[in-house]
Amino acid sequence: MKPKIVVVGSLNMDLIARSPHIPALGETVLGSDFSTAAGGKGANQAVAAARLGAQVTMVGCVGGDDYGRQLLTSLQADGVDTQFVCVASNTHTGIALITVDDAGENSIVVVSGANWQLTQADVAAAEAAIAAADMLMLQLESPLDVVVFAAKLAARHDVPVLLNPAPARPLPTNLLVNINYLIPNESEAALLADCAVDDMNGVETAVSRLRQSGAANIIITMGSQGAYLHSDESSLMVPAFSVQPVDTTAAGDAFVAGVAVAVGEQRPLAEAVCFATAVGALATTQHGAQPSLPMRTAVQQLLNESKL
Ligand code: ADP
Repeated sequence: MKPKIVVVGSLNMDLIARSPHIPALGETVLGSDFSTAAGGKGANQAVAAARLGAQVTMVGCVGGDDYGRQLLTSLQADGVDTQFVCVASNTHTGIALITVDDAGENSIVVVSGANWQLTQADVAAAEAAIAAADMLMLQLESPLDVVVFAAKLAARHDVPVLLNPAPARPLPTNLLVNINYLIPNESEAALLADCAVDDMNGVETAVSRLRQSGAANIIITMGSQGAYLHSDESSLMVPAFSVQPVDTTAAGDAFVAGVAVAVGEQRPLAEAVCFATAVGALATTQHGAQPSLPMRTAVQQLLNESKL
């Protein structure tokens, strides 16, 4: 049976300009290339989970413009149910203005637009879908009161909640107590736990502080090092798969979707984290956000090759 996953979160159109260097204050630079790509952490995670074989429903908000229509079409092409993505006609679809220089460094301006119009009522409209889900996935590119409300609603229906606390911000206890799987990267963990997370001592300190704040299972993603899992059953470092990365955009989104899908398939958490490290690794081998999210067959192939 396909796991059912509901994502409450953001949808953005990424507007990507390539330029010899990032413009200085007041400078105009002639760029070399321009492209648009579907993005936003919520939509990325929805697409990632769908490509891994889950039945995914997205709850979010786009503007009444062409970008919004394109984002809905692209989610639908990946089989994501968009009936709970509302359209706010009084504002624009969320956008990310991204400049990438010749060295691969970037600067990004995100304008949330319609993402900030998502309301608790919009989430309540999807209550039946949330109640029937195997997992609710949340991030922090939506209004915090809506994220808190969604987690509470899922908890009321005994649906496990996964929070990817990105972009990081201090979180209230009434959110953390309803989080079954908290998955920050190192810098997000450092902000949430208020300590340095640059070695294993830091990771363990962060994990024990985050545990005390209420989250049940904590997984800190550590880029090319892999991920650290801390739960009642186990604490272990899961090493990364060895790949040739070309662009790490959306590796974190791919990883959290991997955890959600594998846990939704009732697999043990340590196995789910190993599966997720394969998903995250593959996402680094292609350019872009959603274009880089791997299909289930590619993940299975990487896992099989690693056992040879
Ligand atoms: P984020 O994109 O949120 O900063 P990370 O960079 O920690 O998140 O990446 C998420 C996961 O993706 C990592 O835990 C790891 O499993 C995988 N990953 C990221 N970068 C690499 C890499 N260079 N090689 C292999 N796996 C990677």
